[in-house]
Amino acid sequence: MTVSETSDVKARRLSSADYADNFSDIHPPLTPHEALVEADRCYFCYDAPCMTACPTSIDIPMFIRKIQAGNPVGSAKTIFDENILGGMCARVCPTETLCEEACVREAAEGKPVKIGLLQRHATDTFMEREQPHPFQRAAPTGKKIAVIGAGPAGLSCAHRLATHGHDVTI
Ligand code: SF4
Repeated sequence: MTVSETSDVKARRLSSADYADNFSDIHPPLTPHEALVEADRCYFCYDAPCMTACPTSIDIPMFIRKIQAGNPVGSAKTIFDENILGGMCARVCPTETLCEEACVREAAEGKPVKIGLLQRHATDTFMEREQPHPFQRAAPTGKKIAVIGAGPAGLSCAHRLATHGHDVTI
């Protein structure tokens, strides 16, 4: 890129309102009532294909069932049990080609349960209520483990190792 191509790049070219609008949610979060209605659409399938399609193997029918029962904090714990970064994944995961594409309601009606938005509802509620951290370190094992890389996989790996009592360096 030449200097002439970058000479127009500078801070504060847009108003604060424009920046807020440009970085706003594409999919707004569900209200508590919308989350209950959406959770009610789930069939809680025994062999849940949505769960098989999830790379992090979250127990999707279980976490949706907890939202339906009015327990979003418990729902978030179910999510974090399998994926400590479940709040982030609820925002960036391509659910339309994973769990939601596999949902039986997608096959039947072309309208899957909104799994990603429900996951966001549960994890946002957990964090908004400032719950204590849901996991504890186990007693030290005396083992040291190096994790190479601090992306989502490295951070998740380090978290799980710490809950088993290992001393982790990322
Ligand atoms: S496939 Fe759809 S209806 Fe079945 S458990 Fe998963 S989200 Fe619920």
